[in-house]
This record gives sequence, C-alpha cells and structure tokens, in this order.
Amino acid sequence: MCYDIFDGRLHTTCGHFDPMSSSRRDCYRANCAFSSRHDPRCRSAMCAQKLQPPLQNPIRMSPAKCSTCVQRSYSR
Ligand SMILES: [Zn+2]
Ligand SMILES: [Zn+2]
Ligand SMILES: [Zn+2]
Repeated sequence: MCYDIFDGRLHTTCGHFDPMSSSRRDCYRANCAFSSRHDPRCRSAMCAQKLQPPLQNPIRMSPAKCSTCVQRSYSR
C-alpha cells in the first residue's frame, strides 16, 4: 500500500518530530485505491482504501526542544 513520507526535524531532547514536507510513495499495485496503477473508475471494496502509517524521515537533528514543548514550558 501507498504511504506518505514526512521529511522533517527530529528534536532529540523531547523526541518530537517536526515535519517540513511530505511526499507520497506509490506502491504501484492495481488493487490499491491510492496507486497510480489503480483504475480511478474502480469502486471495489476489495481494493485498499487506506494508506499505510506515514514514515518519518529525519533529515535534520536538533538538540533543542520543539516549539510546542518550548511554548508549553513557558505557559506553566
Ligand atoms: Zn498503494
Ligand atoms: Zn480498485
Ligand atoms: Zn517536543
């Protein structure tokens, strides 16, 4: 099945992932509704209707906390 890959930054302190861009990986299966090989007129319930869980691809590492965690520590 197809899935999305998120390129982004991994914050090593808090372990959170900050996605910057995403791209779709095509599985090229005829029985997957997201594949480019799939017939767009097909309405078969036998075909995969869900994407696989997205993959996180850390292209950068940051030793700092992510912006969400920084905001959270300020608000307390
Ligand atoms: Zn697919
Ligand atoms: Zn189909
Ligand atoms: Zn965080």
